[in-house]
Amino acid sequence: MVGEGKQIAATPKILKKINLSTIVKVVMKWEPISRTRIAEKTGISKPTVTKLVRELFTEGYLIQVGKGKSKVGKRQELLALNPKKGYVISVDIGLRTSKIALVGFATSVALVEAVETIPDYSLFLERLVGKIVDVVEERRIDNIHAVVISVPGVVHRNMRVAVNVPLLHWTNVPLADLVELLLLEHGIMTTVTLENDAQLGVIAEVMLNQVPSLEKRDIVYVLVKEGIGVGMFLNRKLYSGRSHTAGEFGHMVIDINGEECSCGRRGCWITLAGSEQLNECAKRGDIKEYVRLFGTGLVNIINGLDPDVIVISGTITEQWDNIFPLLKRMVMMESFVQDIETLQIVSSRFENRIAPLVGGAILGFRDYIEMRETESIVVV
Ligand SMILES: [Zn+2]
Repeated sequence: MVGEGKQIAATPKILKKINLSTIVKVVMKWEPISRTRIAEKTGISKPTVTKLVRELFTEGYLIQVGKGKSKVGKRQELLALNPKKGYVISVDIGLRTSKIALVGFATSVALVEAVETIPDYSLFLERLVGKIVDVVEERRIDNIHAVVISVPGVVHRNMRVAVNVPLLHWTNVPLADLVELLLLEHGIMTTVTLENDAQLGVIAEVMLNQVPSLEKRDIVYVLVKEGIGVGMFLNRKLYSGRSHTAGEFGHMVIDINGEECSCGRRGCWITLAGSEQLNECAKRGDIKEYVRLFGTGLVNIINGLDPDVIVISGTITEQWDNIFPLLKRMVMMESFVQDIETLQIVSSRFENRIAPLVGGAILGFRDYIEMRETESIVVV
């Protein structure tokens, strides 16, 4: 998705496509929304908005959902995306449990199911696809637009191969091909795409305006589950590095004499501050110790990247009220950041594990929501 984006000349046809996808993006973020507000938010002229909205309406992408309040004049029709226009099956692979979400155009989560994760990936994929087929058949859905799988590890830049998932001991597994073939055996023809879980999380946070201000250029998303993943939105663009492996801060070594990590190194951040360590510390009533371990890695990231916003997500948010004051104090004491009071450290507003599922849906509908590198995602 991000990478070799080519600069293209804006012919009228392309301009129209960009305008249409900008409207979809704005409606997704602000629905229910009137045509006047769409024009305000996009900067596209009101007559052009009216024309393009009519087109989206005719093609079934938009629906009317009532009338807005107005002090003067006619009450305006409010528009929303039509969740039945198409569906994405969004899957989030966890160490023990994987989640399957049926998401209507573009981000309305209709259903979330769970399936046990097992390290034998052939068997796991068979069960996963079995569950997807059940969902599709029970709901009689015939317009699956894509399947997107969130992976807790490194994904190849072609977004079809799980290169390294240390927690499950998967190396170079062609997950997308395997799932596509299994679905085809059940008569479902669709495209499967893979992406790193934290990368999908940051897409959801940024596209759906979860972060406190749209003015922010650099956003770091930290996902704490069995491991720790980091998604980065730097200089208003997704950042995935040269070979699509950026964000593996979970494997930054905090203690060179520490416990061996599943990646082969010692004392990685995830061996000290994942969800299991959080649960152990919480049981002992020693949240302070957990914050010391989690905060050490976080301060390293803050010192290295100097971002505007840090969004923290995953199991850690369940303890947020206890963790945040201690974490903030640690960042103030130990980071080099100037104007520390303007660095925003916030807890994700998405429920635990929902952000990567929603991010997966946004990626699955990317034909409609322009996310090319040449046109920065967000900022509408
Ligand atoms: Zn490691």
